[in-house]
Amino acid sequence: MCGIVGFTGHGPCTDILIESLKRLEYRGYDSAGIAVFENGSIRTAKAKGKINEGLVPLVNRGADNHFSTDFSHQTCGIGHTRWATHGEPSDINSHPIGNGRVCIVHNGIIENYREIKEFLLNAGYSFESETDTETVVKLLDYYYDGDPVEAIIKVCAEIKGAYALGILFRGFSDTIYAVKKESPLIVGKGQDGNFIASDVAAIMEYTKDYYLLEADEIAVIHPDSIAFLDKHRRPIDKELRTVDWDISAAKKGGYEHFMLKEIHEQPSVLASSMSVRIKDGLPDFSDFGLTRERINSYSRFFIVGCGSAMHAGIVGKSLLESLARVPVTVDIASEWRYADPLIDEHDLCIVISQSGETADTLAALKLAKECGADTLAVVNVVGSTIARAADMVLYMSAGPEISVCSTKAYAVQVEMMYLIAFAVTLSKGKITEEKCREYIKELQKLPELVEKLLEDKTDYQFAASNLMNAESLLYIGRGLDYALSMEGSLKLKEISYIHSESYAAGELKHGTISLITEDTPVIAVATQTALIDKTVSNIKEVKARGAKVLLITREKQIIDEKAYDIRVNLPDAEDIFMPIITCVPLQLIAYYTAVLRGTDVDMPRNLAKSVTVE
Ligand code: GLU
Repeated sequence: MCGIVGFTGHGPCTDILIESLKRLEYRGYDSAGIAVFENGSIRTAKAKGKINEGLVPLVNRGADNHFSTDFSHQTCGIGHTRWATHGEPSDINSHPIGNGRVCIVHNGIIENYREIKEFLLNAGYSFESETDTETVVKLLDYYYDGDPVEAIIKVCAEIKGAYALGILFRGFSDTIYAVKKESPLIVGKGQDGNFIASDVAAIMEYTKDYYLLEADEIAVIHPDSIAFLDKHRRPIDKELRTVDWDISAAKKGGYEHFMLKEIHEQPSVLASSMSVRIKDGLPDFSDFGLTRERINSYSRFFIVGCGSAMHAGIVGKSLLESLARVPVTVDIASEWRYADPLIDEHDLCIVISQSGETADTLAALKLAKECGADTLAVVNVVGSTIARAADMVLYMSAGPEISVCSTKAYAVQVEMMYLIAFAVTLSKGKITEEKCREYIKELQKLPELVEKLLEDKTDYQFAASNLMNAESLLYIGRGLDYALSMEGSLKLKEISYIHSESYAAGELKHGTISLITEDTPVIAVATQTALIDKTVSNIKEVKARGAKVLLITREKQIIDEKAYDIRVNLPDAEDIFMPIITCVPLQLIAYYTAVLRGTDVDMPRNLAKSVTVE
């Protein structure tokens, strides 16, 4: 998971490394570290905990290994912020990991590290950390005889798994070597030096120009030049890309947390993301080849994702089945990929991933391709691994999402589900173009309704103040409201650390209702007209058993006041469009509950934003 950076240039690198690492901290924050050249030697500073808590004080007081507090001679270095996979979060397991001759930062997992370790132990090496990464350092050292590229090629031929590596070799004190397979890595081209980073947002303060490193490509990065080589040392020509969004998108912009900022970005992002996908009032995917004929050729649809992306997929399933009347399977990527799914060349597999790097989703995509299905990736990060592996890509254009807890990306994923569902419904002849245009018009009204919801947040703050002391709670709903309950429950538990479950409202009485006491609040989502009466009956059942009920429903809905304790009102829209409206109060209730409980909202414990491990 982790984030890696590197800089080699004409000025000091240390502050650049630390500032760039801070932008990658969403990828993992178990520990952080940097390694720089100083008078030809590799000096390392690394510590358990977040960058500002461990690494920064350490660097400022002069770390171990004679790390100098005078940064002026440190012009080439690498950095890492970790999400531990092998070995607990600790100083010793932190990256960079090196031995004086070779030093590396690693994002990913070396699957055959045990065999390599065995081999190296027999060759006389000893190991200090519990990481898989240390085997790569020692194997590089084993093969290194003064030619870094040769050593990298030999090591890459032996290691299996996922990796993006930034490497320093003693004797090459202005050079960073980089190589990757599966895990993402970009090489930035700056004015006064060049960079590596796990994503481009990390270095946008310094440059917007970058190259995308592909699997098995080696980058040799000097202050004034960058060379790319394949595994036979042949030079590769690569396209220089330029980021098309602004650095302000990756900063907090006056908000207390990225999460709050990203919640507030939803009206504008929802509007802009759909605008590029609508032509002549109809959904348009012709730029990536998803034509009406192609859609018509599919008999079944599969939607696969993890976490919030999978929840967006559940909304997609409901829309596709109810409008287009096509069979849809939606599943969690980590389950689906091992379930021997019944998918073939007549089907379309839609994978959803904000980062485009989610390991399980990538594996699901590969499986779908192996089975002959067509694949469509709904991703946010341009050029990400999933985007490149899929047959077709629908970019979400949501801008960078920094908060680990997804908000705007979820909303846009749901929005993309509408566009896909309308396109399929139209292609399958289940609606006329005129009806499809009406749907699109309704969709276009949503950003304004979301904006309205964000004007006054008192209700959500009040709801949060009533939830903050709960130890456990339930979210309930039916149909699309159940799909939203799942998302609301995930948001809340993820950032507030309050245990919560989502349940189909009608299912409670088959077991779960025994959990209800007056200390178990119930959050009931009731927006679907045809199901409201049924849901209200379920709410009354929990109320009768002492639960405090927070009801989220439409402003216009008349509901017996005795059925709930607190009510949060939503503006009115057609039933199928309520998910995008409903997700906003659910996000804000989770957000304010977490703030009141004093948790680290943007970087909740044990998590990382982009899950590049299985
Ligand atoms: N597998 C390495 C470790 O556990 C790297 C993990 C990461 O990508 O953060 O240290």
